[in-house]
Amino acid sequence: MTDFAKTRALFHVPEGIVYMDGNSLGPLPIAAKERVAKMLTDEWGEQLIRGWNSAGWYVQPRRVGDRVGKLIGAPENTVVMGDTLSIKVYQALASALDLNPKRKAVLSDSGNFPSDLYMAQGLLGSLGKDHVLKVVEPEEVEQAIDESVAVLMLTEVDYRTGRLHDMKALTQKAHAVGVITIWDLAHSVGALPVDLTAAQADFAVGCTYKYLNGGPGAPAFIYVAPKHAETARPALSGWMGHAAPFAFDLDYAPAPGIERMRCGTPPVIALTALDAALDAWEGVSMQEVRKKSIELIDLFIAEVEARCPDLVLASPRDGQKRGSQVSFRHAKGYAIMQALIARGVIGDFRAPDAIRFGVTPLYLARDDVVQAAETLEDIMTNRLWDRPDYLRKAAVT
Ligand SMILES: *Cc1c(COP(=O)(O)O)cnc(C)c1O
Repeated sequence: MTDFAKTRALFHVPEGIVYMDGNSLGPLPIAAKERVAKMLTDEWGEQLIRGWNSAGWYVQPRRVGDRVGKLIGAPENTVVMGDTLSIKVYQALASALDLNPKRKAVLSDSGNFPSDLYMAQGLLGSLGKDHVLKVVEPEEVEQAIDESVAVLMLTEVDYRTGRLHDMKALTQKAHAVGVITIWDLAHSVGALPVDLTAAQADFAVGCTYKYLNGGPGAPAFIYVAPKHAETARPALSGWMGHAAPFAFDLDYAPAPGIERMRCGTPPVIALTALDAALDAWEGVSMQEVRKKSIELIDLFIAEVEARCPDLVLASPRDGQKRGSQVSFRHAKGYAIMQALIARGVIGDFRAPDAIRFGVTPLYLARDDVVQAAETLEDIMTNRLWDRPDYLRKAAVT
């Protein structure tokens, strides 16, 4: 059994705060403070350049990748860390298109996170004129998968509503007509059970500062299915992905397997924080996390709907059909969220009108979500959101 009281004690959540934004930035794992301090002092400080070998910095992207891999059903040596998620999307898409050279369409949906679509637009723009990005509604994806499509590129959990795609079924449909798949797991990893092997996904990518609590700007990951690992061509062919980086050849030759998806020098300090954050998952059952997440969200929805009739549920009501987050719509959503944050309940806002709450059983319990609903009720009943300073939008929402 997962001991959620124990996992909660692993995180620093400031006194008086109900933190429901772990889907955007997970809280600080207490162990990360000491681990990073030790790395700075003992490794960087004392070992200097020798740390690449003596402290294992060079192999860290794959070692940490294997730890992330365990949470997403990826075998050892199929996941590597580095760069940002946007970069990993680009890499995965470039390699996937290369594996399907006769076809010119990339299929995605309007529920995808814009950066994924922007990166696709950027890449297709440099490939010439014949490639197209087809963006359909999430419900239309299945029927849009056909022989014209080279790559199906989707995010499993919709960042706005939490709506969940059926990764296995869509991948199967894609493979039946020769389509390569890329799954973005940004809102899946650490949020729900993922089994890339069972789903037979070709590529997967994700970030680690959301449900994995790796810290702001924590490095992203990329997964390449074993069947493509030796053929996938890296478009961002940096020296750390070379077969022999320290031979300093003038010509690129890809490293064997997943190592080729490395690009440049890895962010060792950030990876050290992430490595410490991943300790929180030791002894945790993702099935139990999922069960508790659904219970907590069901409770939160019931409480909010009973207390705040003006808020409209934007997420699927069926727990099996959503990720570990829930959103409500209201025309004054932005101001409502500012009023909530001012009262210590931290969620976020996604344009045009959704207030969004991440529900993370590792450090959130029933009392927290009930308290959040009570605060929300107070704000709605007494129009506490109706203040000019709450209506002014900040750069990051
Ligand atoms: C959070 C998120 C991103 C962010 O990408 P970064 O490069 O890390 O800023 C991209 N795609 C999806 C689906 C996300 O949820």
